Amino acid sequence: MPYSFLYSTNPARIVFGPGSLAQIADEVRRLECTRALVLSTPFQREDAERLSQQLGELGAGVFSEAAMHTPVEVTEQAMAAFAAVKADCVVALGGGSTIGLGKAIAYRNNAPQVVVATTYAGSEVTPILGQTENGVKTTVKDASILPEVVIYDAELTLGLPVSMSVTSGLNAMAHAVEGLYAKDRNPITTLMAMEGIRSLKEALPVIVERPENVEARSKALYGSWLCGTVLGTVGMALHHKLCHTLGGSFNLPHAETHAIMLAHTVAYNARAAKDVLTPVAELFGGELGGGLYDFARSLGAPLALKDLGLAEAELDLAAGLAMKNPYWNPQPVEKEAVRELLQYAWSGARPE
Ligand code: NAD
Repeated sequence: MPYSFLYSTNPARIVFGPGSLAQIADEVRRLECTRALVLSTPFQREDAERLSQQLGELGAGVFSEAAMHTPVEVTEQAMAAFAAVKADCVVALGGGSTIGLGKAIAYRNNAPQVVVATTYAGSEVTPILGQTENGVKTTVKDASILPEVVIYDAELTLGLPVSMSVTSGLNAMAHAVEGLYAKDRNPITTLMAMEGIRSLKEALPVIVERPENVEARSKALYGSWLCGTVLGTVGMALHHKLCHTLGGSFNLPHAETHAIMLAHTVAYNARAAKDVLTPVAELFGGELGGGLYDFARSLGAPLALKDLGLAEAELDLAAGLAMKNPYWNPQPVEKEAVRELLQYAWSGARPE
């Protein structure tokens, strides 16, 4: 088939390299900002305080209450902190939860964002914000949400626990896999997706063996940047929809859920998207679902939704919720088949 596509990219300034955090003050100044509110989760508070000190007179304060799924109440507290210290930009230090808080602030007041990404989730390069209010997670997409600058400093990821490195890396791979069969894909997103998957496939086994290997950490961050860029550029399908349902309605943890579901959703779509997924199958020993399952198992990733606390009795409801708001997927989304997929993922069986 002849090429036919629309090519449109998000503006991005990426500062990449071990030690690149040293450039943070220059990056804040480059945005013509003078007072940065540094954001983190409670777990990374000390790092955030050190970063605020490193910013010197550019550091306006620290807000360290970022939480998973960006609860609106937390955003409101952060907006109050932003106003109280007269901040004019945010510096988000952390993974998707902290980055989500920075995006939520920017969505409300257009504050420029500098992100120092410390997981592989990829949120830092997307114009997408997922937030929760009264237990309901909704997603918005807007140009103001896309961070202006991203710093990827592998030295900051040396302490990311191996289990999180693995699940977060598989989360990134899932963005790229769905990008390969996205209806609005283009040759550049396909290049990025394959390079991202390849980089993570090489890096993750090394990280499991030697978590402090800067080269592997750097390669994983590079892969996650590429996979995140794919997520921010093209539409996602069954995999992301199911993970959104499982996270939003059953409160399952984000990265672990993605890590378990990937092998099953790719197996579901394997036949319908065979041409575009063949290079992935080749990377994983010739088999798509089974190959990705074996890879995840070799890294010690969680394999079964039941181990994340989901009850078998909830699978019918999950399948039903996933059928709401129809969306495009290479293989038609049918309730019986989705219910069967969920059964496999729940029990941790290897996809056929
Ligand atoms: P996370 O941000 O919740 O981080 C998990 C924990 O690990 C936190 O306590 C964090 O402080 C800690 N941590 C992060 N980096 C660390 C490091 N280098 N060393 C030690 N500890 C570290 O996890 P996540 O998986 O990155 O993010 C999940 C959230 O991101 C979800 O809410 C998800 O919906 C969102 N997300 C959004 C997008 C998007 O494009 N909007 C994309 C991916 C994920």
